[in-house]
Amino acid sequence: SWSSSDSVISVDSAGGAVEPGSPYRVVLLGASGVGKTAFANIFAGGADSMDSDDCELCGDEVSDREIEVDGETATIILLDTWDAEKSDEWTQERFMQIGDAYLLLYSITDRASFLRASELRITLRRFRPARHTPIILVGNKCDLVRCREVSTSEARACAAVFDCKFIETSAAMQHNVWEAFYGIVRQLRLRRDSKED
Ligand code: GDP
Repeated sequence: SWSSSDSVISVDSAGGAVEPGSPYRVVLLGASGVGKTAFANIFAGGADSMDSDDCELCGDEVSDREIEVDGETATIILLDTWDAEKSDEWTQERFMQIGDAYLLLYSITDRASFLRASELRITLRRFRPARHTPIILVGNKCDLVRCREVSTSEARACAAVFDCKFIETSAAMQHNVWEAFYGIVRQLRLRRDSKED
């Protein structure tokens, strides 16, 4: 298997691990309690957890695995150490820079987390002015229908303004979580293919 230190070298400063077959770094962003760990656990299910010594950026909350999307294999490195409340500024900035793509999570039951996602989107734009960094706004906990504080239509409108895709998920029910990862891979491929043209 490839080593994470090699992949650090092969990623260019514009944030592109864009060669076919090279791993994509996907970063989970979002307020505390929205379900980032639950997402990471579903993703890592059955996959090797990377040795934390291999990763200069983060602790042990990193996993990588190959997934097949539309008949083609993609390798995703998922980074989940980012924490808006606990991380220092340097770490936050680093995470804003190293991702090839971002899953921007909020909880549909927590309006404050939705507002936090908006702030994060704006911060991300500052670090990643390029329009084509794939970002998906993810409304998690959609199983908790009776506690909903953010409507689907409002979030969809917000995603349109933010120029990103939108999906509602339930990590608890394992609903749409893989679809979010597939969506990220599809967007990364679109970007890759448009660069090849
Ligand atoms: P993090 O702080 O963003 O990493 O959030 P966690 O993954 O630790 O989740 C916070 C809490 O929400 C935990 O108690 C999870 O079990 C719960 N949780 C996460 N995703 C869902 C979901 O889709 N539905 C429900 N009902 N609970 C969830």
